[in-house]
Amino acid sequence: MTEDQSAAEEKSITILQLYPREMNIYGDWGNVLVLKQRLKWYGYRANVLEYNVGDEFPAGVDLLVGGGGQDSGQVVIQDDLQALAPTLRAMAEDDVPMLAICGLYQLFGRFFKTHTGTVIPGIGLLDLETHGGTERLIGNVLSVSEEFGEIHGYENHSGQTFLGPGVKPLAEVRKGEGNNAKDNFEGARYRNIVASYLHGSLLPKNPAIADFLIKAAAIRKYGSFEPAPPSAKDLEELAKLSELARQHAGQRP
Ligand code: GLN
Repeated sequence: MTEDQSAAEEKSITILQLYPREMNIYGDWGNVLVLKQRLKWYGYRANVLEYNVGDEFPAGVDLLVGGGGQDSGQVVIQDDLQALAPTLRAMAEDDVPMLAICGLYQLFGRFFKTHTGTVIPGIGLLDLETHGGTERLIGNVLSVSEEFGEIHGYENHSGQTFLGPGVKPLAEVRKGEGNNAKDNFEGARYRNIVASYLHGSLLPKNPAIADFLIKAAAIRKYGSFEPAPPSAKDLEELAKLSELARQHAGQRP
């Protein structure tokens, strides 16, 4: 087989990072790096695209990722996001897997009323709304989900999100606040969408969520998810990483 033929037969997943310029704080970009690396381990090529305000929305997106942002960043993207709303809603209903963190999670809902009273409209893709307050919810979070087990991350937000009956919570909070200071929920789940307040970034700490998104993207595109057996090089790389992790764990007080 020529190199061209094997490249043509290699399965690929196109990841779109939404608004990396304004919506990408506390290392949320790390989510894309994890998806890219795990896809490589599974024998799929990751094609990573970025979409910023005013860009042309690309065709053929298999997986969509968006990060958190300051209130001011959310104001900058709001009009552009409204223009994308029909496209994003259609993709969601077509089961495209999506990961929406914090600021973008809020704008996937109906609206975010900030602590200054500004109402930033959302796209109503998720049945939820967000109200800003003077209190900021900051710190490490431990939550538990039936689907993914323990979910760890870091939160920092003034918006408090309340879920409607059209979405399920992603997880129940054991430590920290999550969606708001009142109920015990963190994040939201709908179709193949995972929405969460957690940075860290989320996927390096919670690879089960990365694998859910990858599997959903592969099944939607190819009808099945068939990870390739790991190559000798990947196994060597993994052994090195595990050794580093062991050494690091040994150094902890
Ligand atoms: N600006 C939003 C808030 O403070 C989102 C913050 C974030 O993405 N971390 O609620």
